Amino acid sequence: MPDTPGAQKSSIPWFDDFEGVAYRYYDLRMNIIPLISDIKESSRIWYDTIHWWADPYIRVRFVEEGDRYWFVMGADSKKPEKNMSFFKLLQKSENYERFKKGHGGEAYLRLGVYVKKPLGESKKSAACNCGHPAEDHDEGDGDACLYYECDCKEFSSFQVNLFKRKKTITDIAFLDESDVKGDPLAWNCLYTNKYSKD
Ligand SMILES: [Zn+2]
Ligand SMILES: [Zn+2]
Repeated sequence: MPDTPGAQKSSIPWFDDFEGVAYRYYDLRMNIIPLISDIKESSRIWYDTIHWWADPYIRVRFVEEGDRYWFVMGADSKKPEKNMSFFKLLQKSENYERFKKGHGGEAYLRLGVYVKKPLGESKKSAACNCGHPAEDHDEGDGDACLYYECDCKEFSSFQVNLFKRKKTITDIAFLDESDVKGDPLAWNCLYTNKYSKD
């Protein structure tokens, strides 16, 4: 654990029980879409927690660590007893890189419900999360992607059913792990969910 005089654990609980994060263009802006596995759960998360966040105070941090990154999101809440902060350690993806280059300082936050489709049920043209179509995945070899430079081991595609409600995020930062001490939200996340667990 790094030496951190004065580091304080936040009392806001950390939540990582969601599937991942999608980055897509809708409504002329990039959208950050935490993917929830179940529709009831997603409306509970929205109405209990995110609904009570004021847009200008929502912070999203991406802490990069090799080919992975920590997605970190939180805000002060008008209903603090139901508040929580989100985090997930994720693999960098083409969509992530596209978001990083293209967000222009703001994004919409929406929740998505994730409906996973295996290779056998997908159209040939359906895109895998690696960005390559289903027909370029080999059904005989654990569904691995056939593109030489792609390290996708298993086809996975999903439909995202988007929640209509949205928030506008304007406080977005990409950080290296060495920068997190200067950022209370990112620091709290790694302190609680990484260093305290090593
Ligand atoms: Zn793939
Ligand atoms: Zn691929």
